[in-house]
Parts: sequence; C-alpha cells; structure tokens
Amino acid sequence: MYALKHEENVCATCPSPDCLLKCQYMEFSKEDAHKEIMKVVRGEDSVVLKDCTTCYACEEYCSRGNHPYYLICERREEKGILTAPRPITNQWINMTEMQGKFMTGSVEDTVMSCCMLPELKKLGSGDIFAEIESSFVFGAEFMCPAVHTHFAKPSVIKERLPKVLERYKGLGVKKVVCMHDECYGTFTSIAPAYGMEVPFEPVYYMDYILERLKDLKERIRPLGLKVVYQRPCSNRLIPDKFPLVEKILGKIGVEVLNRTYDGENCLCCGDIVRAICGYQAADDIQKRNVDDMAASGAEYCVFNCPFCQSALSDKVSKAGLKPVHIIDLCKMAIGEKEV
Ligand code: SF4
Ligand code: SF4
Repeated sequence: MYALKHEENVCATCPSPDCLLKCQYMEFSKEDAHKEIMKVVRGEDSVVLKDCTTCYACEEYCSRGNHPYYLICERREEKGILTAPRPITNQWINMTEMQGKFMTGSVEDTVMSCCMLPELKKLGSGDIFAEIESSFVFGAEFMCPAVHTHFAKPSVIKERLPKVLERYKGLGVKKVVCMHDECYGTFTSIAPAYGMEVPFEPVYYMDYILERLKDLKERIRPLGLKVVYQRPCSNRLIPDKFPLVEKILGKIGVEVLNRTYDGENCLCCGDIVRAICGYQAADDIQKRNVDDMAASGAEYCVFNCPFCQSALSDKVSKAGLKPVHIIDLCKMAIGEKEV
C-alpha cells in the first residue's frame, strides 16, 4: 500500500509555517499556525481538519516540500471527517469510476491526455496540436484522481492512480501531454509524494504550446488585448508552471493586468467550495473574485481549467468581461478563431 512521504522534523523545525500563515480561509498567529500544523502532523484533532476548504494553496505555500495539503486529507480520512455530505462524496467516487468506457486515438510515442473532460479534446485541436491531436486518451481509466482530495478520500487516489499509471505503461507511451493542470500536478506532485513511479515523461500543455508558438511564429498576429487570468486550484500543485501564462500571452500580444486575487493570492473558481463549505462561502469567493476582475478594466478573463471556465463564465460575462480559454486565445492569434 502506498503511503504519503512526510517528514515530521521538517515541520517541527520550520521557521515560518507559511502553510497556515498564508491560508486565505483561516487566520492564525505564527505561533498558533505552527501549533495547529504540528497537531495535524501528530494526528491530533485540529481546527484545520474542520475548516480547511481544500483550496490546495498550502502545497504552494510550503517551500520545504512537506505536502501539508495531502497530509490534511490523510488525517481527515483517518478520522472519518468528511468535507462534504456523504452522498456528494460518493457521487464523485462513483461518477469517476473506471467502467471500461475510455477512448484512445491512434496512440503514438507522445499522447495527449484529455483526462475525463470532453472540452479538452475540443481545445486540443487545430495547428497547435496537429502533431498529437489524433494520439489522445480520454476517460476515467486515464483520469487523474486528484479531485478526491477535495473530499478527503486519498484512499481512492492510492487505489486508482497506480491503475492509471499501469494503463499508460500498457500503451507504451514515452510522453504524455497533460491538457489539465490537475493531471500534470498528479503525475509530478502527488505520485512522487506517495512513492509511485511514473512510467513516462509528463509534459505540461503550456510548455507544449510555447514550443509550437515558436514553430508558428510567422502566423502570429498580436491581439493587443488586456486580460485578467483565473488561476485554477490545481496550479498550486505545480507553481513553477505559473509564469508560463504570461510567457504565452506575451508571445501573442496579450497583456495580463494586475489584480488583488492574483498569483499566490488567487481565489479558486468556487464550485468545489460550494459542495464543501456551502453556498454562502462559494458566492462570497466568486463575488470577490469577479468584482476584482471587473475593477481591473480588462476585456477578457482568461481561463486555464475548463471546470473554472464553466463555473465562472456567466458571472464574468455579466460583469462585462469575455470568458476565453488560453488555448482559444492562441488560436485567435494564429488566425484559427475569430477575435
Ligand atoms: S508544511 Fe511546510 S510550511 Fe508548514 S510547517 Fe511544515 S514545513 Fe513549514
Ligand atoms: S488547502 Fe487551502 S484552506 Fe486548506 S489549509 Fe491549505 S491553504 Fe488553507
């Protein structure tokens, strides 16, 4: 059985418990933040196990590689603390169960992972993805099970992720281009945290796009747009990839405007929070986030995650901004889509 690698002494000697000090949903003094995370480490009761909204951010805040968020999930499950009502927790487990209904294209050495989100297949098309468009995988058998951390069910990850990795191994692929941050974060953060070997090279889709934009340089017509960016929760698992957004947008003549809820201070889309903390908390997060976007004066809100896009598109449109996925902006810049 796989187990989370966690070093108690790394937390015990931590000079700044940023995991909880920077948490946007709980407020602690430095001393209390350290006390509470140590309670979690030792498996004792802590307010964190009750109030954590599962925003993933402490995975980014901890600069000492000790996976506070995964530990919170483990402790919750050990103690039988559910984050959402049991029917919702079970619904997520059931609807993402492997049932042999997956799809694969004409699989080559490099494959495009569309996780279990049909939107990713549509996005992964056109000249940017011409070389891998037909070499794709889609379905629960290839889905990263990170979503179950939101429901304090790391046991589902420990059971399903090895099967996903084994299935990729069976295909004999060398590289997997992950079209969703959650997949790339699962393969590069969760799998190693649990000592699971990944039998291929995970490639982040924004790295892939950057390379393709070099090839397609002659076709790029700078868009001259001002935008804000909605950073998804799963980007917290791969913070070194966050700067790629500005790099890509810079190449297609798009300026990202500063706002309050940006970068390390970003707010999640709010829809998972709705299931976990209720309507009031989710509405508050979404209102603060969208008001902040509108105050920036941006024309577009750029999304990375299709789940965030579906959660916020209507609200963003009502606030006067146009919702768009970063891939569609790139397609506009090379003349594949209308601006
Ligand atoms: S999880 Fe990271 S930031 Fe938090 S106390 Fe441990 S080492 Fe420090
Ligand atoms: S996951 Fe988010 S809400 Fe939970 S402790 Fe970490 S930073 Fe706070």
